[in-house]
Amino acid sequence: MNPLDHLQWPFFDEHHTRFASKLEAWAASNVADHHGADVDAQCRQMVRTLGAAGWLAPAVAGREYGGAAPSIETRSICLAREILARHSGLADFAFAMQGLGSGAISLAGTPRQKERYLPRVVRGEAIAAFALSEPQAGSDVAAMQCAARIEGEHAILDGEKTWISNGGIADFYVVFARTGEAPGSRGISAFIVDADTPGLEIAERIEVIAPHPLARLRFSNCRIPLSQRIGAAAEGFKIAMRTLDVFRTSVAAAALGFGRRAMAEALGRATRRQMFGGVLADFQLTQASLAQMATTLDSATLLTYRAAWQRDQGRSVTREAAMAKLAATEGAQKVIDAAVQIWGGLGVVSEQPVERLYREIRALRIYEGATEVQQLIIARELLKDPGA
Ligand SMILES: Cc1cc2nc3c(=O)[nH]c(=O)nc-3n(C[C@H](O)[C@H](O)[C@H](O)COP(=O)(O)OP(=O)(O)OC[C@H]3O[C@@H](n4cnc5c(N)ncnc54)[C@H](O)[C@@H]3O)c2cc1C
Repeated sequence: MNPLDHLQWPFFDEHHTRFASKLEAWAASNVADHHGADVDAQCRQMVRTLGAAGWLAPAVAGREYGGAAPSIETRSICLAREILARHSGLADFAFAMQGLGSGAISLAGTPRQKERYLPRVVRGEAIAAFALSEPQAGSDVAAMQCAARIEGEHAILDGEKTWISNGGIADFYVVFARTGEAPGSRGISAFIVDADTPGLEIAERIEVIAPHPLARLRFSNCRIPLSQRIGAAAEGFKIAMRTLDVFRTSVAAAALGFGRRAMAEALGRATRRQMFGGVLADFQLTQASLAQMATTLDSATLLTYRAAWQRDQGRSVTREAAMAKLAATEGAQKVIDAAVQIWGGLGVVSEQPVERLYREIRALRIYEGATEVQQLIIARELLKDPGA
């Protein structure tokens, strides 16, 4: 089963096929799925390796800053994430966070901000992070409390952010804080905070089931020049949503990568495992499971690349991206669970590929909008025009 068969589908141009084939060949010989104990060092190294090989270019916008195209192309970031996730969760994470962490700068930064940050992000020399969530504001982002008060030419940040990927190893954080121009989502601005700014500290490192750098940040009287604000005052919420809009479909693509790896592992094991005078794949119950897995993956792949293609046409993808994320993350979880079942006892042994995938997939159903949030988005879009 060729994991890149879907490149024959009509969503792609020739340059996507070339890009995906090259990345696939590179990842097969340069990316290992087994990670050591020091996840921070591994992540830093992965960012440098991806940057040195040129693979971070699709994650930022603007050729003059090292980006692959004038704006971020959704199909390219989806292909990159799907391929990297199939080989290594950490490689996918490193790629995704360079894009998500610098996405607000790509979308709404000043030329000076872009010149200062984006080329280093692309080369893998500066690690980026996106700091939106707070202990009391996860799904309900507009409830955020982290505040930035303006004093002359500076903003003074006070408050906390949590679940921040790359927290502790990032060189800069794009931080969303309440500036109070209006209540709720209309009073939030975005700022770039360099990691060594006095008043910013890592309050806690968070250990999760699929280890990667993650932290709670604390801002205490953290003073940054207003030239570090991204976009105008009170535009922060819109900028955060625009950034997530670019990257949401790519979460679906990462889930496909994990799911396809599980499918390959399941096929391999089912055709090798001797039992009852044959192999596991001889049995119709196994065949039914494999058929369901493949169908789940192809359906989710169609939804994912429909959303990516549609966004690259400049069309709105609110409903399509939500469907892609919902179907791919929930579907991949089922596929991976079925792969663990096919592997039997070996499937739950630490650091076996399917055991690792079982841990990797879980958070994707929660972050960048939990499954229930995607369901609400889809329903809201449907109900806007119920008679159609
Ligand atoms: C591994 C990981 C990495 C992350 N990285 C980042 C990052 O880099 N930057 C960042 O800013 N944030 C990050 N997050 C935070 C992530 O976006 C939040 O965890 C997510 O938004 C959910 O918020 P919460 O955890 O506070 O859950 P809550 O908001 O408390 O939600 C709990 C659960 O309630 C359910 N739910 C939510 N809304 C509804 C509803 N309307 N109706 C019914 N049920 C609902 C969902 O099942 C949800 O999982 C990360 C999270 C994880 C786990």
